[in-house]
Amino acid sequence: MKIKVLTLFPEAYGGLKVGILEKAIQSGKFDLEIINIRDFSADKHKKTDDYPFGGGAGMLMTPQPIYDAIRHADPDHKCLRIFLSPRGQTFSQKKAVELSEKSDLLFLCGSYEGVDQRVIDLCIDEEISIGDYVLTSGDLPCMVVINALSRYVSGVLGSEQSTEEESFSGALLEYPQYTRPQEFMGLKVPDVLLSGDHAEVAKWRREKSLELTKALRPDLLDKK
Ligand code: SAM
Repeated sequence: MKIKVLTLFPEAYGGLKVGILEKAIQSGKFDLEIINIRDFSADKHKKTDDYPFGGGAGMLMTPQPIYDAIRHADPDHKCLRIFLSPRGQTFSQKKAVELSEKSDLLFLCGSYEGVDQRVIDLCIDEEISIGDYVLTSGDLPCMVVINALSRYVSGVLGSEQSTEEESFSGALLEYPQYTRPQEFMGLKVPDVLLSGDHAEVAKWRREKSLELTKALRPDLLDKK
């Protein structure tokens, strides 16, 4: 999979290249290219923003540098082009799986008060939001989306890690998990997990998942 990110803050992406993702990028499981939109500005001062027509607070990203950066990054429109935006469809695990099946993705990150609408109309296939709140730029949302989808790219998670039984992989949240020691600060690991009885363990986990989902996210049960 190839991922291209268009941003005014390439330096932010160090935060993505840690742990599992750092290994995945280094071993070529997916290719991540960070492109600085400012490099494409035709302005002699490399300006990328201007005042909005009609007035209003703040500045907008001008269309020219973004348009030229997209044409450079994806001349044949091979990529699914996504604009991170608070007004987009809310991101979900289902969407992460869907995106992980694409071969080429391009993410456009807005800054300031957003981007000139014409560049969205001309270049963008879809808009994704990471939730109903407004951040200062699309970079954290972009990293959230890339992190979530990369877990479904073949070979990124080791065989010891699985996406199959975790929260949002089905209708229920994940059951509680325990590791060594068997007793910590007076709290014991439930006996069933030490019993070696796989059927009983599976039954217990299913019950706990249901209990937790009812308590913490009853809305998920309504979606079934
Ligand atoms: N004026 C815009 C509005 O009211 O919708 C908000 C602009 S925000 C300050 C700047 C940029 O951050 C946006 O263009 C977008 O790329 C990104 N952004 C902010 N919040 C986001 C969210 N919840 N999901 C995805 N992107 C977001």
